[in-house]
Amino acid sequence: MKAAAGAGESPADRAERPVTTLRGVGAALAERLGKLGVTRVADLLFVLPLRYEDRTQVTAIGQLGPGKRAAVEGEVLLTEVAYRGRRQLLCRISDGSGMLTLRFFYFSGAQQANLARGTRLRCFGEARRGPLGLEMVHPEYRRLGHEAVPLEENLTPIYPLTGGVPQGRLRALVGEALREMDRATVRDWIPPEAGLPEGLPSLGEAVSYLHHPPREARHEELAAGRHPAQRRLAFEELLAHHLSLKVRKRALKTDPAWALTDEAGLTRRFLAGLPFALTGAQRRALDDAERDLVTGVPMARLVQGDVGCGKTVVAAAAAARAAGSGFQATLMAPTELLAEQHWRNLRDWFHPLGETVALVSGSQPPRARRSALAAIASGEVRIAVGTHALFQEGIDFKRLALVIVDEQHRFGVQQRMRLQEKGQKEGRLPHQLIMTATPIPRTLAMTAYADLDISVIDELPPGRTPILTVVIPEQRRAEVVLRIVEACRAGRQAYWVCPLIDESDELRAQAAEETAATLSAALPGVRVGLVHGRMPSAAKDAAMLAFKAGKIQLLVATTVIEVGVDVPNATLMVVENAERMGLAQLHQLRGRVGRGTEASTCVLLYRAPLSPLARERLKVIRDTTDGFEIARRDLALRGPGELLGTRQTGLAQLRVADLMRDADLLPQVQEAAEVLLASYPLNIAALAARWIGDDERYGRVG
Ligand code: ADP
Ligand code: MG
Repeated sequence: MKAAAGAGESPADRAERPVTTLRGVGAALAERLGKLGVTRVADLLFVLPLRYEDRTQVTAIGQLGPGKRAAVEGEVLLTEVAYRGRRQLLCRISDGSGMLTLRFFYFSGAQQANLARGTRLRCFGEARRGPLGLEMVHPEYRRLGHEAVPLEENLTPIYPLTGGVPQGRLRALVGEALREMDRATVRDWIPPEAGLPEGLPSLGEAVSYLHHPPREARHEELAAGRHPAQRRLAFEELLAHHLSLKVRKRALKTDPAWALTDEAGLTRRFLAGLPFALTGAQRRALDDAERDLVTGVPMARLVQGDVGCGKTVVAAAAAARAAGSGFQATLMAPTELLAEQHWRNLRDWFHPLGETVALVSGSQPPRARRSALAAIASGEVRIAVGTHALFQEGIDFKRLALVIVDEQHRFGVQQRMRLQEKGQKEGRLPHQLIMTATPIPRTLAMTAYADLDISVIDELPPGRTPILTVVIPEQRRAEVVLRIVEACRAGRQAYWVCPLIDESDELRAQAAEETAATLSAALPGVRVGLVHGRMPSAAKDAAMLAFKAGKIQLLVATTVIEVGVDVPNATLMVVENAERMGLAQLHQLRGRVGRGTEASTCVLLYRAPLSPLARERLKVIRDTTDGFEIARRDLALRGPGELLGTRQTGLAQLRVADLMRDADLLPQVQEAAEVLLASYPLNIAALAARWIGDDERYGRVG
């Protein structure tokens, strides 16, 4: 389809032209451009620079400092090949104000000849300190003749690198695309009544500005991503992503689901049998879920609540509703430890009601697993708890109507959707209830999880005493060991979380074993147990059960206990090498204590010296136990990409926008989305094509 740019072609047609219609773009280059999401000429305009360089002026060499990126001009004094570990070409230039060495590790004979003494050069690169004074390694350069060569008039954009498309080539292609398209072809898909934020330029202005910012552009503002032109595009990008999630949600809601009316009244009996009453916040979250479950429209609800707020019981009550309606529910947990704990809790809650709960985990004995699977397939068991083994092949539910995903930050969107597809029978989709302890601010959540409805549990069960957190250098480890003795004497229990020495399970396990041995020797009167990820599941089970039953007083563990483990009598937690852990992880770990009525302490041991970031993290975790506050601080320290993990939200990688930096745009993004959803379906598709492409994250997994 190589359509030439004919005279009768309208600007809009030109925008649709494939990129191969540009001069010099053959199949090979087109393929590499495809990896950048560029298939049409217009797509080039949305490959946005990562940063800019100022080549609009020449800096005197004498004014250069290490780390400065600048253009300089000078005359070659000497060019020689040197052997300093490696063959290299060194070229000394001077402009009268100072001297600079250019260093090339890759060079040709012709290049060497071109840099003969007396040649005048203009170079651009980053100055750094070298053995001969300031130097530039592999600078870009050109030879200057006698006539003046004009400097750049605009800041030079630096584009994201893709395998095999050189900067210069990409820059030229974008330039060509800009030149040959008048601005009208960059179609603005945001209708006027959708309301852009005040003071932002038009789309066409924003695009051309960002590819060619004028010399006087505010460089810092651009570098910070706060320029109105960037905000204009960030708005559009956020809108595109938000809309895709909304569209996905809407599509989901057009499928029918089973209406779970609980004729058997199991939910009521379940709640009546609990040893406690639900908190107001738990009640509200459950009400939200129940309203969804009775409708016959698939529920897609996120229950957000800090560690220890009691999400499990809300999930279990929803499962009761499914079972009481004659259907099946399944609860998926991210680790075997947690799956087993949930299974035990649910079993104890449901057993008196005559309801069997099955466990499916990857490591259970084959016979137990086979019989669990058979009971699930026959419909004999209505509530199944497990790990991701639940959505592996060979598992067949008889009438699955509710999928519950616990600690969803550990799962990908894909896994969640796979489990849902497992249950798709007779044209009905199972309801989804998703539990997360990632307490992100509400506006952020509404964008990141726009494919879900959200309930927040913002209240802890009554009677909890706040956790005291102390930060102690590891030299004072002996003191900490004494605290364990005290806690155990008082009839309490403790966790000792071993350092994050390595990404390897094996090394972690080994460290945990050694620590357990050392502590056991140091604490003769204390019963010490051990759990780590490499232990056989039966041994892990046994240790957890013994800890829960109080037979083990000190549990030495790796971060496997990070999520969900619930032993209210444990009141002391020691975390080794806390300086290596992230805020969210520390918060989760600490959430293992403070679950009963006794006061709890969390001791964070660290090894000096602390990096500024580690120091800040430890301070935050010491000063607050409020998950929302910690998340806010975490956002400020790390940025949302890492906090949320693009994996767990429906949000793919963002190009210009940044959820945190541009959070102030989100309310208007949400309003604009409503306008487009109501009246502009075609624009939604166009925005998605521009910003998201056919990213499979947004499709159903086949
Ligand atoms: P999380 O939200 O972190 O998953 P859990 O569901 O593990 O929290 O609950 C933490 C602890 O609080 C459990 O021991 C649970 O039995 C208890 N719990 C939950 N709800 C209540 C309540 N309303 N009153 C008292 N204790 C509760
Ligand atoms: Mg939990």
